[in-house]
Amino acid sequence: MKLLSIVAAALLLAGCAGGKYSSTNKAYKRQVKSFAKLLREYPVEDSAGLPWAGQWVGTTNFGMRRPNFVVIHHTAQNSCEQTLKTFTLPRTQVSAHYVICKDGTVHHMLNDLLRAHHAGVGRWGNDTDLNSSSIGIEIDNNGSEPFTKLQMTSLGNLLGRLKRAYNIPAANFIGHSDIAPGRKVDPSNFFPWMDLARQGYGLWYDTTNVQLPVDFNVMNSLRIIGYDIRRPEAAIKSFNLHYLPADTSVQVSDPGKKILFSIQQQSQ
Ligand SMILES: [Zn+2]
Repeated sequence: MKLLSIVAAALLLAGCAGGKYSSTNKAYKRQVKSFAKLLREYPVEDSAGLPWAGQWVGTTNFGMRRPNFVVIHHTAQNSCEQTLKTFTLPRTQVSAHYVICKDGTVHHMLNDLLRAHHAGVGRWGNDTDLNSSSIGIEIDNNGSEPFTKLQMTSLGNLLGRLKRAYNIPAANFIGHSDIAPGRKVDPSNFFPWMDLARQGYGLWYDTTNVQLPVDFNVMNSLRIIGYDIRRPEAAIKSFNLHYLPADTSVQVSDPGKKILFSIQQQSQ
């Protein structure tokens, strides 16, 4: 009888994600506890390794810092299960706040107020620490296949929630390739940026009445939008991937220039 109930309990445990990931969930809790300890420190003598000031006076008015960007990725892996595994192995050192599977299931892996390791070395405008300022969303996709309808529905719902909760501007929904030109190409050219922009997540162009200024400068325009232009060809490739996915060149075409200027005008 006792054995039976043990077997039943084991089956029950295996049946839920909590069972399979119980040890990594424990590791998550341990890490959160150590951060909570840091926040409880009173008086604060040391914030993130910075030397303390001479005097401590605790203010009565404050809140938690909030994310202001959303960075979208494709996993470049073959299954959601594989990605969840990657993000729960300490040696990989990578993670994201959310993982969206092909059937539309959304996995939340980290409190939005904490810093995931998804952006790596990247830059958008003068922000050089996108991990600190953004939410990372990974979509299960190997990079050479369309994203599923169910994924896009879930993504739309999630982005809506994030946008409302943290008041994130439309322009701040960007892709990994946008912040890491020359290093990253996700989300791939299958990603429907236009559909998302129409829902208010990310910018899109309307070139109907666009007149290029005589002194229009491609690199300057890319810089104003936010692209890191230290490697010009890489920045152009990232721009093309986002707005002209059929164009895989390292040049901005004439129609591309109008698109670029249209996005620039919305970024200023
Ligand atoms: Zn990525």
